[in-house]
Amino acid sequence: MTTPAAPLAPPEAIVATRYWHRRPDGRIQCDLCPRACKLREGQRGVCFVRARQGDRIVLTSYGRSSGFCVDPIEKKPLNHFLPGTPVLSFGTAGCNLACRFCQNWDISKAKEYDTLADQASPTLLARKAVELGCRSVAFTYNDPVIFHEYAVDVAAACREVGVKAVAVTAGYVSAEPRAEFYAHMDAANIDLKGFTEEFYRQACAGRLQPVLETLEYVRHETDVWLEVTTLLIPGLNDDPAELDRLTGWMADKLGPDVPLHFTAFHPDFRMMDRPATPPETLTMARSIGLGNGLRHVYTGNVDDTAGQSTYCHECGALLIERSGYRLGMWGLDRAGRCSECGARCAGRFDPAGPGDWGPRRRPVRLRS
Ligand code: SF4
Repeated sequence: MTTPAAPLAPPEAIVATRYWHRRPDGRIQCDLCPRACKLREGQRGVCFVRARQGDRIVLTSYGRSSGFCVDPIEKKPLNHFLPGTPVLSFGTAGCNLACRFCQNWDISKAKEYDTLADQASPTLLARKAVELGCRSVAFTYNDPVIFHEYAVDVAAACREVGVKAVAVTAGYVSAEPRAEFYAHMDAANIDLKGFTEEFYRQACAGRLQPVLETLEYVRHETDVWLEVTTLLIPGLNDDPAELDRLTGWMADKLGPDVPLHFTAFHPDFRMMDRPATPPETLTMARSIGLGNGLRHVYTGNVDDTAGQSTYCHECGALLIERSGYRLGMWGLDRAGRCSECGARCAGRFDPAGPGDWGPRRRPVRLRS
C-alpha cells in the first residue's frame, strides 16, 4: 500500500536516499524497511516521509521535527543507561507500522507538514544538547527508521561533541540500513509489541520476524545498549502463555541482562474499545519474565516503586530506587557494581553516580 502524492515538502527538507532499487515494471522499490513500498512518480510510502521524486526515493522531512523536549532518560524508557540524566528528545512525522493502539498517533499518523514546524540542523541539535546539559539525544515519538538519513547525521554530530544517541524504535528495518543506523547509536529501546505473527499482522500491519532479527542483531552484533518494551493490551497480547514464550525467547536469544519494560496501555487512536491495563497484569507479566531468568523486568506507566526499581541479580539488594521518573536510593559503586556484594549490574553507568534531572519535562524550541 502506498499513499498518493501529497503536498510538496519545503525543498530544504528533501534529501536523496540510497536504499532503493528500480523494478522492471517501472516502479522504484524502497528497501529501507520490510514494507518494501513500490512507488510510481509522486507517490509516498506508507511512512509518509519517503517519496518517489523522479528517478529516486527521497526523504522529505530532513531537519524537521514535530517538537523538542528535554525528558528524563527513564521516560524512553531506559533504566540502565546514564540513569537520572536529561535527554533531548524529538520526533518527526509518520511511521512505517500502523499500530491500532498507537499512543503517539497525532505524530505518527500526521500527513501534514504543519506537524513539522520545528527545524534544526544536526550540528545545531548537537550544540543545543550540550547547552541544555543533555547527556544524550533521543529519536522518539515516532520511529527514526523512516528518517534514517537525518537520524544518522544527528547521531554523528552528537558523537563529535560527546553527546550519546538513543533510538526508540519498533525495530522494523531491513538488514543493510539497520547496520548503518545502529553503527551510529549508543543505546536503543526496541518494542517487542507481541509474540505472534497474527498480532503483528492484525494490530500493527507488520511482521514479527524482522523485529526479532533486529533484536538479535543489536544484542549480538553491536555495542549498542539495548532495552526492550512490550505494551500490554488487555485481551490482545497479555495471555500468560504468550508472555512466557516472549520472555523465554528473550532469555534464550538475548540473554538475561537485557532489561524488559512491560508498560500499561491506555485506550487511544483506533483502539478505544479496550480498557486500560490493570496494574496486576503488569505485575503478573513481570513475575513471568523474572521466572524465566530475566534479571531486570520493569512495569511502566503505573505507580509502582517496587516494579520500577533495580535490584542486584546476585544478592537482591536495592540498586536504584525509582518512584515514577524520580530516583531515590543509589546502591552502585563507581564501576557499576552492587555496593553489597560486588556483582556487576549490566548497563552504562556514570562513575560520578546518577544524574539529578528528576521527572521534569521541558519543551524547547530550536529553530535554525
Ligand atoms: S521506509 Fe517508508 S517508503 Fe520505505 S519501505 Fe518502509 S514504509 Fe515504505
